[in-house]
Amino acid sequence: MNTTTESKTTTFLNYINGEWVASDTGQTEVSKNPAIKGEVVGSYQLSSSNDFNDAATSARIAQKAWRKLAGSVRGDYLLKAASILEERIDDIAATMTREMGKTFAEAKGETARGVAILRYYAGEGMRSVGDVIPSTDSEALLFTTRVPVGVVGVITPWNFPVAIPLWKMAPALIYGNTVVIKPASETAITCAKVINCLHDAGFPAGVINMVTGSGAKIGTEMVNHREIDAITFTGSNTVGKQLAHSAVTRGIKYQLEMGGKNPVIVASDADLDLAVDATISGGLKSTGQKCTATSRVIVQKEVYDRFKEKLLEKVAEITVGDGLESGTWMGPCASEGQLNTVLSYIEKGKEEGATLLFGGNRVLENKGYYVEPTVFESTSPDLTIVREEIFGPVLALLKVDTLEEALELANDSEYGLSASIFTTNIGNMLSFINEMDAGLMRINAESAGVELQAPFGGMKQSSSHSREQGRAAIEFFTSIKTVFIK
Ligand code: NAP
Repeated sequence: MNTTTESKTTTFLNYINGEWVASDTGQTEVSKNPAIKGEVVGSYQLSSSNDFNDAATSARIAQKAWRKLAGSVRGDYLLKAASILEERIDDIAATMTREMGKTFAEAKGETARGVAILRYYAGEGMRSVGDVIPSTDSEALLFTTRVPVGVVGVITPWNFPVAIPLWKMAPALIYGNTVVIKPASETAITCAKVINCLHDAGFPAGVINMVTGSGAKIGTEMVNHREIDAITFTGSNTVGKQLAHSAVTRGIKYQLEMGGKNPVIVASDADLDLAVDATISGGLKSTGQKCTATSRVIVQKEVYDRFKEKLLEKVAEITVGDGLESGTWMGPCASEGQLNTVLSYIEKGKEEGATLLFGGNRVLENKGYYVEPTVFESTSPDLTIVREEIFGPVLALLKVDTLEEALELANDSEYGLSASIFTTNIGNMLSFINEMDAGLMRINAESAGVELQAPFGGMKQSSSHSREQGRAAIEFFTSIKTVFIK
């Protein structure tokens, strides 16, 4: 990868038309380690409209030849990239930990997931892209086939800086699209290292492009650029909806995956140890910075006290620290801004009358942006900490009398991404499957688990109602043609 090193800081470049290039602005920004105040991970380009234009134009030119390749040939590039990413797993995972704070073990797991995503989509190049449909004319052939959408703009968040770019780019590429990615600024360097794996896999120039810089600038440029045919976005609801408005105005395809306020229901017949472990893992791993993180814990009254006691016992064992240090279970918030948001939600919880059962404080203040795992008890479903996405390690416990009440409370949210229930009763499971408004339904499992070969996405305000990952990705990254031949 072509980088420059000035005063011990490595500067990462944009990737345009198969080359690493500096922005014409001449400006860079530093990416900082949230675990160690003042530590710089590297610098990335603050790009201009011209840089983006170069990337989008290269992607348009490259798409002509790329879409003509056999799917299996495109798949070979993905397989090669998977092997390279696998060889570099330690370096990329450590960069991720240093840029956004999740523990090295989690970062390594995510990078391994990226390898698996590339391999899965490599296989897609050999699978069917249409159906034969009986025509009313017995002498005609009626079938569907799929074609790539064209040039896809990709905008990604910082919380899964390897997996999310890859679960968008891999399907885009295998179905014959070319891409321009604008990664989250927070994790621009991790993304540059992933793009370097794709570069070293030998993808033709222009097929993949990366332009870093401010979301407001490059994201706006992307959605309004004439060469961008579709935009896939994961991030906050505010930004997602703005992008959707612009995409509709231009008449281009868009896909949004956004926030969540994911409930866990603990029924009176639940395996409480399992429910406690899954609530902690689903709610507090990655410092609660997952769109699928558990944040509302709705417990039936018969088991409420026992569940609470067990949960608090286990939460007290959590070790907070630098994700690169062995023995750390929970790393820092991803940035100072993120820490301040979490702390302000904790204050709001206290002010609005929730009972703080555990945590609530900033810790290791001289070192970085750390907060304690925090557990509230709420008697009202209307508190801000029960309604808004916090994106931090904060759980709110709510007590209910019946499963019916639990489901009503769980559905009382503008979001509908993931939901879990812990129960051994098949009737409870069926009610949950039928009545819960969420795209990801998890029974006796944490809310944050995802399988790359299965559809992923939310209902209500969590998503544009499309699905990513698995075979479902074909819907966004291709257009159907219905063909009649006589
Ligand atoms: P964000 O602020 O919306 O940023 C996401 C991406 O959008 C970043 O690349 C950002 O660039 C860019 N951006 C910012 N302003 C923009 C604008 N005006 N136009 C176009 N792009 C713009 O979200 P975040 O704080 O990074 O991520 C946290 C959110 O993502 C949470 O709500 C979380 O639930 C959601 N999320 C959802 C999923 C899912 O699959 N449903 C998965 C992960 C995260 P900069 O970094 O340069 O600002």
